[in-house]
Amino acid sequence: MTERSISQRTRQLLKQHGLTLKKSLGQHFLIDDHILDKIIGAAELDSNTGVLEIGPGIGALTERLAEEAGAVAAVELDNRLVPVLTQLFVAYPHVSIIHGDAMELDLREIIEQKLAGTTRRSVVANLPYYVTSPILMRLLEERLPLHNIVIMIQKEVAERLTAEPGSKAYGAITVTARYFAETEWIARVPSHVFVPRPQVDSAVIRLRIRKEPSVSVRDEGLFFRVVKAAFAQRRKTLSNTLSANLFPGIEKNELIGWLQEAGIDPKRRGETLSLEEFAELSNLLADKNP
Ligand code: SAM
Repeated sequence: MTERSISQRTRQLLKQHGLTLKKSLGQHFLIDDHILDKIIGAAELDSNTGVLEIGPGIGALTERLAEEAGAVAAVELDNRLVPVLTQLFVAYPHVSIIHGDAMELDLREIIEQKLAGTTRRSVVANLPYYVTSPILMRLLEERLPLHNIVIMIQKEVAERLTAEPGSKAYGAITVTARYFAETEWIARVPSHVFVPRPQVDSAVIRLRIRKEPSVSVRDEGLFFRVVKAAFAQRRKTLSNTLSANLFPGIEKNELIGWLQEAGIDPKRRGETLSLEEFAELSNLLADKNP
């Protein structure tokens, strides 16, 4: 494709097709080659890698993915963009443009069918803000056959995903992401590299998907319920928040005894527990069968 800068490319294409961007769809298009290089570098692509891109927009990132990866499947919700994308990639048989909602489509089937022939699969995307966490949770919880997820997202969400226990940003989403993946901060991205400029900064992060969860959990459903309850009221002690949000029918003293048995001070706040401690606690609770 041509050598013009991504900024010129985006502006020209928007003008040529008379497209106005929709904030409701999180349409903030990247116009900085340097950031694009960072995303592509973090994705570690080669001809054996198949990439699922969510929200290609008018294909700035897709174009680079098409050059570096063995196959690309790009899922776009906005029906105005689909014919533009289809036309742009008409000469690229290894690029599939799919119209639909990434929250509803069968992503496993897309990966299997459109990325067939590649041995390693990744998600690389500049995700729409309004649906970042649900999309990411979907990718992880459905255990899609992925090696890497490299995403540009709102900076605050990136901070939460990469936070350490006890910090303000640490939350249920941190623990969930860490259960499935190793999370890495790649780069902070200022708001002026997008058109239109969003009100918040962004960041690129990489999640390396673990073959097995990093801790052994006996009852996954209970584990996630414990994590959610522990963060439901951050200012409360663990014994209080578990009692209020998960086990209202259990005597408080019994709950305190269980926490002590798991080696966890009942006065601690949920936000200080590591992933390993959450696993230990939920395994003990699975035994108690409350
Ligand atoms: N990849 C382009 C770029 O980097 O310039 C555009 C990124 S823009 C932040 C997000 C894109 O996701 C938009 O094109 C938007 O239409 C699309 N989108 C929004 N919601 C979506 C959904 N539920 N499923 C698929 N695509 C979606």
